[in-house]
Amino acid sequence: MSESNEVDTPSRNRRVGLLGGTFDPPHNGHIALALYAQEHVGLDQIWFIPSAVPPHKMQKTSTPASLRWEMTCAAVNPYTPRLVVSDVELERPGPSYTYQTVKRIRGMLGNEAELFWIIGRDNIAEIPFWMEPQRILEEAAIIAGGRPGVPLPDDIPGWLARRLIVLQGPDLPVSSTAIRDHASRGIINPEWVPGPVSEIIRREGLYGYPRMTPLSD
Ligand code: ATP
Repeated sequence: MSESNEVDTPSRNRRVGLLGGTFDPPHNGHIALALYAQEHVGLDQIWFIPSAVPPHKMQKTSTPASLRWEMTCAAVNPYTPRLVVSDVELERPGPSYTYQTVKRIRGMLGNEAELFWIIGRDNIAEIPFWMEPQRILEEAAIIAGGRPGVPLPDDIPGWLARRLIVLQGPDLPVSSTAIRDHASRGIINPEWVPGPVSEIIRREGLYGYPRMTPLSD
């Protein structure tokens, strides 16, 4: 774990954004979402929270948590301490549920902290299917941003609408899926992937990226 990315527990009364994800790999869309939310909602700090085994992705193989952690630290490092990485989900065995994570962070920060769970706009429709969604909203408001082309669901329940902040940006059409797909063909787009993250993908040959083979004499 990188020391510079250790979460520095904020003092009370702070407005803290929480951005959970698989981060397989983290990309400039995640960074842009965090910075946009910070500016438009007024947040003191945003925690990137890599998930251990995302409940909705349990069927897919994913990159080891240690490498997702390393890549997330590498992506966030230039923005520390505005953005930091938390191992709150990685240090716990088993799948990560947002409700448990939010309760845990509430316990760490106390009742005075204002919490905001940040998601991409494409995730709004899934919230009613999360574990204990209404109890999550008692602890944290939801900020939904990015991917402005994605229409809002037209049946958002009142309990969610009252705690939902929808941002109009940022508009960076990038996803981890597209990056993995490109990498399997030996392509890494520097507009999508932070340089230090690209280096880890190349070094480890992640997502089928062709490893460099040493020239023989
Ligand atoms: P995948 O393509 O594997 O599903 P992803 O790019 O959506 O991955 P995640 O780590 O699953 O990345 O995303 C974490 C959060 O960031 C989710 O709430 C997702 O909606 C949001 N997000 C991801 N990419 C963007 C983007 N380009 N703009 C705004 N939000 C994004």
